Amino acid sequence: MFQDARTLADNAQLAADVCIIGSGPAGLTLGQELGSAGFRILVVESGGMDCDLERQSLLRGEDTTGEYFDPVGARRSQFGGTMAMWNMELADRSLGARFVPLDAIDFETRDWVPYSGWPFSRAQLDPYYKRAEKLCGVSSNTYEAAVWEDECNRCLKLPASEAITRVYKLQSTESLLKAASELINVSTNVNCLFRATVTELVPDPGSDRIEYLRVLTSNRKKAGDSGAHLRSGGRRD
Ligand SMILES: Cc1cc2nc3c(=O)[nH]c(=O)nc-3n(C[C@H](O)[C@H](O)[C@H](O)COP(=O)(O)OP(=O)(O)OC[C@H]3O[C@@H](n4cnc5c(N)ncnc54)[C@H](O)[C@@H]3O)c2cc1C
Repeated sequence: MFQDARTLADNAQLAADVCIIGSGPAGLTLGQELGSAGFRILVVESGGMDCDLERQSLLRGEDTTGEYFDPVGARRSQFGGTMAMWNMELADRSLGARFVPLDAIDFETRDWVPYSGWPFSRAQLDPYYKRAEKLCGVSSNTYEAAVWEDECNRCLKLPASEAITRVYKLQSTESLLKAASELINVSTNVNCLFRATVTELVPDPGSDRIEYLRVLTSNRKKAGDSGAHLRSGGRRD
């Protein structure tokens, strides 16, 4: 079920096994996977079902490194998150994204890449990539460019030690968004609270778990903000 946080009473409390903050592709994927395993899931989304300037303005922030895009322009606060900004034109003129897995080298420690080196290898992700492709409606064909070569599209004629030609696969947001919306609409254990901004994670004293999240929503019917506590049980917060 979808619920607008503005319809909750002040200091309402909601309970779930797992609270997921944000309904972008990461949150929706996690919600579907854990929801299908039977957990009570609450996806808490700051934005509404569509983009509006009030919610979008909450993304405002200062980039102290000078290396990042302005988050108000480069992120989207709404159901589906930044998927709403995907801008690759597909064959049917709809918009979507490029999909490609990370390369093995992306996981390796490289002296010239600060903070490089992941605690697991690309090979360990392979089974999860297969599941992600299915969820996103992306074909399971190879990404090796040689297999896709035809008269018009050729691999770069460079030694493989210098350059590798790979392909992106293009897909719309529809598969992921539709499946997630349907699950939230029909299932009893996967819910989404929207226009609900998490402002605090409150730890359970004496354990390593988060006891509850504090959430604020703007409510035009009242002066000021209304709040809610979201509690999650178990150790899977
Ligand atoms: C123009 C554009 C084109 C892109 N094209 C591609 C592409 O072709 N291929 C590709 O792989 N990637 C692409 N990306 C990047 C991709 O969209 C992001 O990597 C992806 O959306 C990140 O997913 P996410 O779920 O982590 O975060 P997001 O999609 O940003 O979602 C985060 C969600 O969390 C919510 N949220 C944040 N804070 C709170 C809070 N405190 N309380 C409650 N909710 C909160 C936000 O409202 C938002 O809905 C593109 C991005 C842009 C801008």
